[in-house]
Amino acid sequence: LVSRKKKPEDTIVDLKGIKIGNGEQHLITGPCSVESYEQVREVAEAMKAQGLKLLRGGAFKPRTSPYDFQGLGKEGLEILKRVAEELDMVVISEVMNPNDVEMACEYIDVIQIGARNMQNFDLLKEVGGTDKPVLLKRGLSATIDEFVKAAEYILAKGNGNVMLCERGIRTYERATRNTLDISAVPILKQETHLPVLVDVTHSTGRRDLLLPTAKAAFAIGADAIMAEVHPDPAVALSDSAQQMDISQFNDFVQSLRDAGLYKL
Ligand code: PEP
Ligand code: MN
Repeated sequence: LVSRKKKPEDTIVDLKGIKIGNGEQHLITGPCSVESYEQVREVAEAMKAQGLKLLRGGAFKPRTSPYDFQGLGKEGLEILKRVAEELDMVVISEVMNPNDVEMACEYIDVIQIGARNMQNFDLLKEVGGTDKPVLLKRGLSATIDEFVKAAEYILAKGNGNVMLCERGIRTYERATRNTLDISAVPILKQETHLPVLVDVTHSTGRRDLLLPTAKAAFAIGADAIMAEVHPDPAVALSDSAQQMDISQFNDFVQSLRDAGLYKL
Protein backbone atom coordinates (compact mmCIF):
# COMPACT_ATOMS: atom_id res chain seq x y z
CA LEU A 1 0.00 0.00 0.00
CA VAL A 2 2.86 2.40 0.64
CA SER A 3 4.49 1.72 -2.71
CA ARG A 4 4.57 4.36 -5.39
CA LYS A 5 4.07 1.60 -7.94
CA LYS A 6 0.62 1.02 -6.46
CA LYS A 7 -0.21 4.72 -6.10
CA PRO A 8 1.88 7.01 -8.32
CA GLU A 9 0.53 10.30 -6.95
CA ASP A 10 1.87 11.86 -3.75
CA THR A 11 -0.13 11.42 -0.56
CA ILE A 12 -0.87 14.81 0.98
CA VAL A 13 -1.46 14.68 4.73
CA ASP A 14 -3.75 17.44 5.97
CA LEU A 15 -2.87 18.70 9.44
CA LYS A 16 -5.87 20.91 10.24
CA GLY A 17 -5.50 22.70 6.92
CA ILE A 18 -1.69 22.57 6.68
CA LYS A 19 -0.81 20.27 3.83
CA ILE A 20 2.28 18.09 4.11
CA GLY A 21 3.50 16.49 0.90
CA ASN A 22 2.17 18.98 -1.65
CA GLY A 23 5.59 20.43 -2.53
CA GLU A 24 5.59 23.10 0.18
CA GLN A 25 8.19 22.66 2.90
CA HIS A 26 7.22 23.08 6.55
CA LEU A 27 8.84 23.37 9.95
CA ILE A 28 7.72 21.32 12.96
CA THR A 29 9.12 22.63 16.23
CA GLY A 30 8.61 22.60 19.97
CA PRO A 31 10.26 21.43 23.15
CA CYS A 32 11.62 17.90 23.56
CA SER A 33 9.55 17.35 26.70
CA VAL A 34 6.50 19.22 27.87
CA GLU A 35 7.65 20.56 31.24
CA SER A 36 5.06 23.20 32.14
CA TYR A 37 2.31 25.34 30.66
CA GLU A 38 4.58 28.41 30.74
CA GLN A 39 7.39 26.56 28.93
CA VAL A 40 5.15 25.32 26.11
CA ARG A 41 3.39 28.66 25.81
CA GLU A 42 6.69 30.56 25.48
CA VAL A 43 7.90 28.31 22.66
CA ALA A 44 4.51 28.38 20.97
CA GLU A 45 4.41 32.19 21.05
CA ALA A 46 7.83 32.35 19.41
CA MET A 47 6.64 29.92 16.74
CA LYS A 48 3.48 31.91 16.18
CA ALA A 49 5.53 35.10 15.73
CA GLN A 50 7.38 33.28 12.93
CA GLY A 51 4.16 32.04 11.40
CA LEU A 52 4.67 28.41 12.44
CA LYS A 53 1.74 26.33 13.67
CA LEU A 54 3.02 22.77 13.89
CA LEU A 55 3.78 22.37 17.59
CA ARG A 56 5.51 19.20 18.73
CA GLY A 57 6.20 18.29 22.33
CA GLY A 58 6.66 15.07 24.26
CA ALA A 59 4.33 14.05 27.08
CA PHE A 60 5.27 10.37 27.07
CA LYS A 61 9.05 10.24 26.82
CA PRO A 62 10.96 7.12 25.76
CA ARG A 63 14.11 7.56 27.88
CA THR A 64 17.13 5.30 27.76
CA SER A 65 17.50 5.36 31.55
CA PRO A 66 14.55 4.58 33.83
CA TYR A 67 15.88 7.25 36.21
CA ASP A 68 15.58 10.06 33.65
CA PHE A 69 12.49 12.29 33.37
CA GLN A 70 9.73 10.17 31.88
CA GLY A 71 7.40 12.99 30.83
CA LEU A 72 4.23 14.47 32.33
CA GLY A 73 1.95 11.96 30.63
CA LYS A 74 -1.69 12.99 30.40
CA GLU A 75 -0.96 16.30 32.15
CA GLY A 76 1.48 17.07 29.34
CA LEU A 77 -1.20 16.36 26.74
CA GLU A 78 -3.57 18.72 28.59
CA ILE A 79 -0.95 21.48 28.45
CA LEU A 80 -0.38 20.95 24.73
CA LYS A 81 -4.09 21.06 24.01
CA ARG A 82 -4.59 24.20 26.08
CA VAL A 83 -1.78 26.07 24.32
CA ALA A 84 -2.93 24.83 20.91
CA GLU A 85 -6.44 26.10 21.55
CA GLU A 86 -5.19 29.45 22.81
CA LEU A 87 -2.86 30.04 19.88
CA ASP A 88 -4.59 28.04 17.13
CA MET A 89 -1.85 25.48 16.62
CA VAL A 90 -1.60 21.85 15.58
CA VAL A 91 -0.30 19.41 18.21
CA ILE A 92 2.01 16.50 17.50
CA SER A 93 2.97 14.21 20.38
CA GLU A 94 4.38 10.75 20.89
CA VAL A 95 2.35 7.84 22.18
CA MET A 96 4.23 4.75 23.36
CA ASN A 97 1.51 2.45 24.65
CA PRO A 98 -1.31 1.10 22.47
CA ASN A 99 -3.63 1.48 25.47
CA ASP A 100 -3.01 5.27 25.52
CA VAL A 101 -3.86 5.90 21.87
CA GLU A 102 -7.60 6.44 22.28
CA MET A 103 -7.13 8.78 25.25
CA ALA A 104 -4.32 10.73 23.52
CA CYS A 105 -6.45 11.27 20.42
CA GLU A 106 -8.72 13.53 22.51
CA TYR A 107 -5.79 15.90 23.04
CA ILE A 108 -3.54 15.74 20.01
CA ASP A 109 -3.86 16.21 16.25
CA VAL A 110 -1.00 13.99 15.10
CA ILE A 111 0.27 10.80 16.72
CA GLN A 112 4.04 10.43 16.74
CA ILE A 113 5.55 6.97 16.89
CA GLY A 114 9.12 7.26 18.12
CA ALA A 115 12.19 5.47 16.84
CA ARG A 116 12.13 2.97 19.70
CA ASN A 117 8.60 1.94 18.82
CA MET A 118 8.91 1.73 15.04
CA GLN A 119 8.43 -2.02 15.27
CA ASN A 120 5.95 -2.04 18.13
CA PHE A 121 3.48 -3.81 15.91
CA ASP A 122 0.57 -3.63 18.34
CA LEU A 123 1.04 0.15 18.50
CA LEU A 124 1.26 0.41 14.70
CA LYS A 125 -1.97 -1.56 14.35
CA GLU A 126 -3.70 0.55 16.99
CA VAL A 127 -2.85 3.87 15.31
CA GLY A 128 -3.73 2.29 11.98
CA GLY A 129 -7.25 1.93 13.33
CA THR A 130 -7.60 5.65 14.06
CA ASP A 131 -8.24 8.51 11.66
CA LYS A 132 -5.41 10.66 13.08
CA PRO A 133 -2.38 11.52 10.95
CA VAL A 134 0.69 9.59 12.09
CA LEU A 135 4.29 10.76 12.18
CA LEU A 136 6.34 7.56 12.08
CA LYS A 137 10.02 7.82 12.96
CA ARG A 138 12.68 5.50 11.59
CA GLY A 139 13.95 2.93 14.09
CA LEU A 140 17.34 3.30 15.75
CA SER A 141 18.96 0.75 13.45
CA ALA A 142 16.17 0.16 10.97
CA THR A 143 16.83 -0.38 7.28
CA ILE A 144 14.73 1.57 4.82
CA ASP A 145 12.89 -1.64 3.99
CA GLU A 146 12.00 -2.23 7.66
CA PHE A 147 10.90 1.40 7.96
CA VAL A 148 8.63 1.14 4.94
CA LYS A 149 7.13 -2.11 6.20
CA ALA A 150 6.37 -0.48 9.56
CA ALA A 151 4.40 2.19 7.68
CA GLU A 152 2.67 -0.58 5.77
CA TYR A 153 1.26 -1.90 9.08
CA ILE A 154 -0.53 1.42 9.61
CA LEU A 155 -1.87 1.64 6.07
CA ALA A 156 -2.93 -2.01 6.20
CA LYS A 157 -5.28 -1.12 9.08
CA GLY A 158 -6.89 1.60 7.01
CA ASN A 159 -5.04 4.77 8.01
CA GLY A 160 -3.32 6.26 4.98
CA ASN A 161 -2.27 9.52 6.65
CA VAL A 162 1.30 8.54 7.45
CA MET A 163 4.40 10.74 7.32
CA LEU A 164 7.84 9.12 7.39
CA CYS A 165 10.53 10.78 9.49
CA GLU A 166 14.24 10.12 9.01
CA ARG A 167 15.92 10.75 12.38
CA GLY A 168 19.38 9.28 11.96
CA ILE A 169 20.57 5.71 12.36
CA ARG A 170 23.11 3.97 14.57
CA THR A 171 26.54 3.71 12.96
CA TYR A 172 30.14 3.56 14.22
CA GLU A 173 30.39 7.38 13.99
CA ARG A 174 30.32 9.14 17.35
CA ALA A 175 30.84 12.76 16.23
CA THR A 176 27.07 13.00 15.95
CA ARG A 177 24.44 11.35 18.14
CA ASN A 178 23.18 9.36 15.15
CA THR A 179 24.13 9.41 11.49
CA LEU A 180 21.63 11.38 9.41
CA ASP A 181 20.86 9.20 6.40
CA ILE A 182 20.13 12.05 4.01
CA SER A 183 19.83 9.73 1.02
CA ALA A 184 16.87 8.07 2.72
CA VAL A 185 14.83 11.15 1.77
CA PRO A 186 14.90 10.73 -2.03
CA ILE A 187 14.80 6.93 -1.70
CA LEU A 188 11.63 7.09 0.42
CA LYS A 189 10.13 9.65 -1.95
CA GLN A 190 10.86 7.43 -4.94
CA GLU A 191 9.69 4.19 -3.39
CA THR A 192 6.65 5.44 -1.49
CA HIS A 193 4.01 8.11 -2.03
CA LEU A 194 4.15 9.31 1.59
CA PRO A 195 5.52 12.66 2.84
CA VAL A 196 9.08 12.49 4.15
CA LEU A 197 10.34 14.52 7.11
CA VAL A 198 13.80 15.01 8.61
CA ASP A 199 14.42 15.40 12.33
CA VAL A 200 17.63 17.43 12.52
CA THR A 201 17.68 17.46 16.32
CA HIS A 202 17.83 13.75 17.14
CA SER A 203 19.83 12.81 14.06
CA THR A 204 22.71 15.15 14.84
CA GLY A 205 22.36 15.67 18.58
CA ARG A 206 24.27 18.90 17.98
CA ARG A 207 22.91 22.41 18.02
CA ASP A 208 25.66 23.63 15.67
CA LEU A 209 24.54 21.17 12.99
CA LEU A 210 20.84 21.98 12.98
CA LEU A 211 21.00 24.69 10.33
CA PRO A 212 23.33 22.97 7.84
CA THR A 213 21.43 19.68 8.05
CA ALA A 214 18.10 21.48 7.73
CA LYS A 215 19.37 23.18 4.57
CA ALA A 216 20.48 19.82 3.20
CA ALA A 217 17.14 18.22 4.05
CA PHE A 218 15.10 20.92 2.34
CA ALA A 219 17.46 20.96 -0.65
CA ILE A 220 17.09 17.20 -1.10
CA GLY A 221 13.30 17.40 -0.99
CA ALA A 222 12.11 16.84 2.58
CA ASP A 223 8.48 17.87 3.06
CA ALA A 224 9.13 19.12 6.58
CA ILE A 225 11.89 19.50 9.11
CA MET A 226 11.57 18.83 12.79
CA ALA A 227 13.70 20.59 15.39
CA GLU A 228 13.48 21.11 19.14
CA VAL A 229 13.19 24.50 20.84
CA HIS A 230 13.26 25.24 24.57
CA PRO A 231 13.13 28.60 26.41
CA ASP A 232 16.27 27.64 28.37
CA PRO A 233 17.92 24.49 27.01
CA ALA A 234 20.53 24.44 29.79
CA VAL A 235 17.86 23.47 32.30
CA ALA A 236 15.76 21.29 29.98
CA LEU A 237 14.66 17.98 31.48
CA SER A 238 15.72 16.15 28.29
CA ASP A 239 17.99 16.75 25.29
CA SER A 240 19.57 19.88 26.70
CA ALA A 241 22.62 19.68 24.39
CA GLN A 242 20.67 19.97 21.19
CA GLN A 243 17.62 22.14 21.70
CA MET A 244 17.68 25.72 20.41
CA ASP A 245 16.73 28.62 22.61
CA ILE A 246 14.24 31.18 21.28
CA SER A 247 16.84 33.51 19.79
CA GLN A 248 18.65 30.61 18.08
CA PHE A 249 15.29 29.42 16.79
CA ASN A 250 14.57 32.85 15.29
CA ASP A 251 18.00 32.87 13.63
CA PHE A 252 17.43 29.31 12.37
CA VAL A 253 14.13 30.19 10.68
CA GLN A 254 15.53 33.45 9.28
CA SER A 255 18.63 31.72 7.89
CA LEU A 256 16.49 29.14 6.10
CA ARG A 257 14.38 31.96 4.68
CA ASP A 258 17.48 33.92 3.62
CA ALA A 259 18.80 30.81 1.87
CA GLY A 260 15.53 30.63 -0.06
CA LEU A 261 14.85 27.21 1.42
CA TYR A 262 11.92 28.04 3.67
CA LYS A 263 9.27 30.08 1.93
CA LEU A 264 6.31 30.04 4.30
C1 PEP B 1 11.49 12.50 19.93
O1 PEP B 1 11.22 12.85 18.78
O2 PEP B 1 11.02 13.09 20.91
C2 PEP B 1 12.39 11.38 20.14
C3 PEP B 1 12.52 10.81 21.34
O3 PEP B 1 13.09 11.01 19.05
P1 PEP B 1 13.44 9.54 18.52
O4 PEP B 1 12.22 8.69 18.77
O5 PEP B 1 13.71 9.77 17.07
O6 PEP B 1 14.64 9.09 19.27
MN1 MN C 1 14.32 15.23 22.17
